[in-house]
Amino acid sequence: MSTTPDPRLQGHAGPPRDRLGRLPRDLRISVTDRCNFRCTYCMPAEIFGRDFAFLPRSEILRYEEITRLAGIFVRLGVEKLRITGGEPTVRRDLPDLVRQLASIEGVRDLTLTTNGSALRTLAAPLADAGLHRVTVSLDSLDDAVFRAMSGIDMPLARVLDGIAAARAAGLAPVKINMVVRRGVNEASIVPMARWARDAGFILRYIEYMDVGTANGWRLDDVVPGAEIIALVDAAFPLEDLQPNYAGEVANRFRYLDGAGEIGVIASVTAPFCGACSRARLSAEGELFTCLFAAHGTDLRAPLRSGVDDAGLEARIRAAWGARDDRYSELRSASTVNLPRVEMFAIGG
Ligand code: SAM
Ligand code: SF4
Ligand code: SF4
Repeated sequence: MSTTPDPRLQGHAGPPRDRLGRLPRDLRISVTDRCNFRCTYCMPAEIFGRDFAFLPRSEILRYEEITRLAGIFVRLGVEKLRITGGEPTVRRDLPDLVRQLASIEGVRDLTLTTNGSALRTLAAPLADAGLHRVTVSLDSLDDAVFRAMSGIDMPLARVLDGIAAARAAGLAPVKINMVVRRGVNEASIVPMARWARDAGFILRYIEYMDVGTANGWRLDDVVPGAEIIALVDAAFPLEDLQPNYAGEVANRFRYLDGAGEIGVIASVTAPFCGACSRARLSAEGELFTCLFAAHGTDLRAPLRSGVDDAGLEARIRAAWGARDDRYSELRSASTVNLPRVEMFAIGG
């Protein structure tokens, strides 16, 4: 009997559903665990100091390896690829990866999340390589607050220049992520809305999350999304917007005067696990099915030991099929201290 697969059966299995019926639509690819910032809520400098042991280069997936895995995810139904980290722009030759990912047939959205510090020079090469859009993380327009939250002595102007370069390169619409932390940058909520409205950027407020275990998260530090929206609404009246697609994480609002939209990602006070379609590939090639997972599925070992695409696909299907994650919906006092992967290891 022939061992050649019957071509009529190819694709027969269809996209995999997890145990809660969710499909994989969105793959976040962490290309490095390193970062030039030390944001207090992600990689606090006291813990991630000079001696911290980041992954050695040999353990990090090469661009060709990332592209091969991403291609398999796309065949399984993923339409959106987001490059993240750590800080993805600290990895050398990032446009080369973008070029490779852009050549995968079926990718509808290819984006990058960055702290913006390198966009002044990288925005144009990234756009030329085929990147569609960028999301830039920026927590305040006040230079002192920006420096305190990002844990780095860099002028805010460098990030603002990067954002301008992204727009000039056509990486639009530029999205801005602002993590809001009680008592730290609440006063920046309305000024950020004003700036983003005037400039035509899409601002996303993010509730401070208990990702990882290094940031000493406390519920008291979270400014609920509803409170953020009420503050903005008082300054610039808003109305609800429908989601762009099922599983969208941000609750969206439109300014009544037509000056664009904002969103809030309220994963603490209004969890959205029910439609979560996100898979995450760590820099070392582990597949995580939840931002709050303690363990992933190793794809690098099979990849490097010569397993073919069908074998890799089977491993991904098995991991996704076993998925029953809904951490944010189950979050409670007892879950906060459970072990889990750090955010910079798997991206946001
Ligand atoms: N370095 C890039 C950046 O900062 O945009 C990409 C990686 S970063 C881990 C991805 C996103 O996660 C950023 O928008 C960051 O603000 C967000 N983030 C990190 N730690 C967070 C936390 N504890 N709560 C909420 N968002 C967080
Ligand atoms: Fe770096 Fe991004 Fe984490 Fe800030 S949020 S420390 S920029 S990885
Ligand atoms: Fe998805 Fe996990 Fe976040 Fe829920 S907690 S939305 S399952 S990543």
